[in-house]
Amino acid sequence: MKKNSSDAAQWTKNLIETFIETSTENTLADGSGEKAWTDFLAGFASGADPIFEDYKVHVGEFHWTPEEIFNKTFPQQTARAEELTVISYILPQSPATRKDNRQMTNRPAQRWARVRIYGENFNTELHRHLVSSFMDAGIQAVAPTLTQDWKRTVSPKFGYASYWSQRHAAYAAGLGTFGLCDGLITTAGKAMRAGSVVVRMQIEPTPRPYEHHREYCLFYAKGECGECINRCPVGALSEQGHDKVKCKKFLREVTAPYVKENFGFDGYGCGLCQTGVPCEAGIPG
Ligand code: SF4
Ligand code: SF4
Repeated sequence: MKKNSSDAAQWTKNLIETFIETSTENTLADGSGEKAWTDFLAGFASGADPIFEDYKVHVGEFHWTPEEIFNKTFPQQTARAEELTVISYILPQSPATRKDNRQMTNRPAQRWARVRIYGENFNTELHRHLVSSFMDAGIQAVAPTLTQDWKRTVSPKFGYASYWSQRHAAYAAGLGTFGLCDGLITTAGKAMRAGSVVVRMQIEPTPRPYEHHREYCLFYAKGECGECINRCPVGALSEQGHDKVKCKKFLREVTAPYVKENFGFDGYGCGLCQTGVPCEAGIPG
């Protein structure tokens, strides 16, 4: 492993790019050979960024700082926050997946549903690949969402939450801001999945080119748009935001059986609010 910060950033990006290009896990698993993912964004945040303490206030006391999850993972070799970097990445939905889902009105397109399961399997493997690549290079690393203690919980303020939020890691790493529907609007849009790994290495943080956590959403920035509200088939979105209970109920009770019956695999998904909207594939306005 090279010690220079920009070399380390580039090395990390090369790892992600090569894995996207070569991993057999990067598939829609439909026999076509089509990849689930073709592109990525990456950003870096210092483990000592005070934003991670802020998340304890804004998300919940349960939300880990990078230092907490690192030291829980490596109790014999604890690190100080400033020794750590959070690597965050975005996997944008492909143009074909976005196009298919854009045309749907009350159920997910098959491509979308496949990416939700098989694309997410790849995302898990990408986490593992990054951790093992760093460890092989002598750099301790952990993927918080793959640790045994990671779990979903309920935030007093925000309802469903978890001990480590990929979108909050991405926000910290300069990759985007939150939309009305809770998705993270990135330069590649809101139709995406995200991942993150904490490494014991200092990499230059990516500047956050925004001042407010809702800055890229037209509804919050200008009082305009709200198109994601109209895309939701079950009224889980409103000017008050995202009703996670309604959304989850739809995924479990409606789209899961729909995917099984129509596409023949155990899955679910929706993403209608992430497609057919101005923030689908970029920062709107
Ligand atoms: S569709 Fe409009 S209101 Fe909804 S998140 Fe995107 S920019 Fe914000
Ligand atoms: S993902 Fe949830 S909030 Fe978005 S359109 Fe579907 S049901 Fe509505």
